[in-house]
Amino acid sequence: MFGTSGIRGVVNKEITPELALKVGEACGSIYEKVVVGNDPRTSSLMIKNALISGLLACGADVVDIGFVSTPTLAYSAKKYDVGMMITASHNPSQYNGIKIFKRDGSGIPLKEARRIEEIVRENKKRYVNWDEIGEYKKEEATGEHINGILGDIGGIKNEMRVVVDCSNGATSTITPYLLRKMGCKVITLNAQPDGYFPAHNPEPVEENLQQLKSMCGAEDAIGIAHDCDGDRMVVVSNNGNYIENDKLIVMFAKYVNARKIVVPVDSSMVIDDYVDAEVIKTRVGDIFISEMLKEIKGDFGAEASGTWIFPSFSYCPDGIYAAAKFVKMTDEMDVFEEIRELPSYPLKRGSIMADRDKIKEALSKIEEEIKKLDFVKLIDVDGLRVEMEDAWVLIRPSGTEPKIRITVEAKEKNCMEELWNDVFNMVKRCLK
Ligand code: MG
Repeated sequence: MFGTSGIRGVVNKEITPELALKVGEACGSIYEKVVVGNDPRTSSLMIKNALISGLLACGADVVDIGFVSTPTLAYSAKKYDVGMMITASHNPSQYNGIKIFKRDGSGIPLKEARRIEEIVRENKKRYVNWDEIGEYKKEEATGEHINGILGDIGGIKNEMRVVVDCSNGATSTITPYLLRKMGCKVITLNAQPDGYFPAHNPEPVEENLQQLKSMCGAEDAIGIAHDCDGDRMVVVSNNGNYIENDKLIVMFAKYVNARKIVVPVDSSMVIDDYVDAEVIKTRVGDIFISEMLKEIKGDFGAEASGTWIFPSFSYCPDGIYAAAKFVKMTDEMDVFEEIRELPSYPLKRGSIMADRDKIKEALSKIEEEIKKLDFVKLIDVDGLRVEMEDAWVLIRPSGTEPKIRITVEAKEKNCMEELWNDVFNMVKRCLK
């Protein structure tokens, strides 16, 4: 049921009211006080209401904060045992899901998720007597999140024009208002919540942001875009260029004076080269970044998908906080000028299809082969990342599909192509 991003799937196929009821019953049997929220998908209320029924039936008190962003829900979770968000993040309209957050804003660890699965699978829920059914009430939570961010970051000194593309998602009711309070002149784009996502798919990748790019150029304004539920944030410059997130990682790490940062194993070496901090690489997935940040007391974590974690504020990837932080940073320094000076290393990603058993079998052969390369560091927390002087390779089985993913990055294009061919052919050989 649970993957690294909680429960996710197609509505009324994998994600049904029946499933939501069972998850609610299981969680109601474990937790006493739960806060719930939802994004604007057409199925979100259907799923949330079933979930709430299960929670109440098993005795949990429920506070419903209604239509909110995921980081707002996670921020509210500090007053409860857990927070439960109905969202499918950046996925298209037909998807939905359930994500569960702990008090500190991080997603529940997989171990805790397995416990919930077990209660569902073995039907171990505990219904309570009629007079012990949980209490239900509604509360507002967005204001508190806005005030929390404002209190932490404060306002700006110079004039700034910002276009915010909310992707017709949950940030429509928060980011534009927050940035206005900071002193920005805000122009909104796709800020009518609409679960059909009429403007573009709610994933903030460059091909979905053509409107934002041309608007930033025309208005001489910086651009900010979120995914549907607001845990992601990406940036467009005032001349309409999409900013690569690994460069933004470098800038944020510098701005917060980070000593230890955490990034996933598929991150660009521009981070190793230009961040003046210890760079720890961990498994792909924001819950693993949060876990590692806690373990090593790191002060910044990020993924190149546009996921930013500032532990001094929350262990939840908070795209709204990140938007405010970016605006503040831009107010204090010439961010885009510094970004222009960072190199773009040639990078190639691809994959080879193969069945899971074959992949399992091939992995030890691949490891043997890859160790023949002239490397300086081998990281095996999630697949195999081999770091050389001026290049790196990552070979990683996909968590969701029967394929093995290959990533190669190098400082020189020729070197990258050559390495790519060698590694690609080697993996193919090992899969035979
Ligand atoms: Mg998301």
